[in-house]
Amino acid sequence: MSILKLRIAILIGVHVLILMHVLYFGSDTIGSIDFQEFFHAFLKHGIINAGGILVLLAFLTTLIFGRFFCGWACHFGAIQELCWWLLNKLNIKPKTVDSKLVTILPIIILLNFYIVPNLLYAFDHPWELSIAIDSPEIWAFLPGWIIGTLTFLVDGFLIVYFLGRKGFCRFLCPWGAFLKLPNSLAMFKVRKTGNCTGCHECTKQCPIGIDVSYEINTYQKVTNTNCTSCLMCTSGCPENALSYQFINPLNEEVKLSHFLKRDQFSHIYIRDIFTSIRSKDFLLLGLTLLAGFSIDGLYGMGHFLAFGLAIIAGYFIINKNDNKYKYLWMKPLLNTLIIFIFLWHSVIKVSIWQGLTQFETNNYTSSISHLERAILLYPKSIGRYHLLLGQMYLLEGNKWSALHHAKIAKELNPNHEGPLQLLQRINSSP
Ligand code: SF4
Ligand code: SF4
Ligand code: SF4
Repeated sequence: MSILKLRIAILIGVHVLILMHVLYFGSDTIGSIDFQEFFHAFLKHGIINAGGILVLLAFLTTLIFGRFFCGWACHFGAIQELCWWLLNKLNIKPKTVDSKLVTILPIIILLNFYIVPNLLYAFDHPWELSIAIDSPEIWAFLPGWIIGTLTFLVDGFLIVYFLGRKGFCRFLCPWGAFLKLPNSLAMFKVRKTGNCTGCHECTKQCPIGIDVSYEINTYQKVTNTNCTSCLMCTSGCPENALSYQFINPLNEEVKLSHFLKRDQFSHIYIRDIFTSIRSKDFLLLGLTLLAGFSIDGLYGMGHFLAFGLAIIAGYFIINKNDNKYKYLWMKPLLNTLIIFIFLWHSVIKVSIWQGLTQFETNNYTSSISHLERAILLYPKSIGRYHLLLGQMYLLEGNKWSALHHAKIAKELNPNHEGPLQLLQRINSSP
């Protein structure tokens, strides 16, 4: 059986196991098996659960075999490969984007959302080690259907169309970033063990967009920490020049230069399948972070969807030369629209943040003005903000406005006790 067929069979098997977990075992035996668990349950509270064990296993196996988990077991990596395959079947050939952000951005997301806040919490609330395999329930970290489907479409498909092979894995995935360190120390690596003719077939085969030919001819091995040990390059080499080989870590040559690749993706045989944006890396980084933070959390949106949309929007704005934008005359208009939408949402985000901060410090006049602006601009009505406004207006003696917001809060959450209690307080106030 070819490596590709073996991988497809194993990845289908992984999806069958996921279905069995959901439909047969439920949450009673094994809870959510999600990478987030390691950070939100273990790092934060000291709880070892199914997700934490998965991360531990993935980390340890990566030290030996490289990012095998990513290449052979991750369903989301498989979805992006499926998208790439479908696009090629439709004769749509996106270019894979070469950028330093593939190293920087996933690490920023990992540190900012998963490591730093959970570690800070753990320092303030010392934890005791405990085991809870059945918690939390399977769907604990998944968003609703609409946001879930959008995340699937944006990070599984759209991002591949814009940023190329495994765009989400390379540019955003914090779990991939977490496995980069053990991957750089992995004992098994793809190594040059025969004569290379420089045909670049290995680079064309690599599903995560590594310039394999450049790496094995420069360093005698693949040093790129995005390598997922999928072995598509070793099996695809017509000269049998590549092997997936063990070397004692004490004898492994590790140099800083292994990670500073300057001339990759430029060979004439592969130039047309990659595009470099290195000169605009920092512009894209700034745009992605600003846009991502401006929408993250709004409409129930998670980090993956927010930053997926943000990097696609940022890339669309900075990219002037790609042939895929046939209607170039529309581009300034679309750029302006995209910038306007993200600026608009950043005003909403800041207004909510300021409104809640001022509320916490009992500065009601300021909190009211920020939250009023937030609900005016936010297309989605949020009962909690109307409830807070109702409470603050009552405290400020503005009974009419308090009643107005309390009624909206009740309409939005008819079964919630807060709005009912507020209405009673308004009616009984002089
Ligand atoms: S980088 Fe993330 S999404 Fe991609 S295969 Fe690895 S864990 Fe899965
Ligand atoms: S496929 Fe084999 S021969 Fe061709 S460039 Fe890669 S290692 Fe060299
Ligand atoms: S370098 Fe080879 S083993 Fe690594 S991801 Fe690319 S094709 Fe797979």
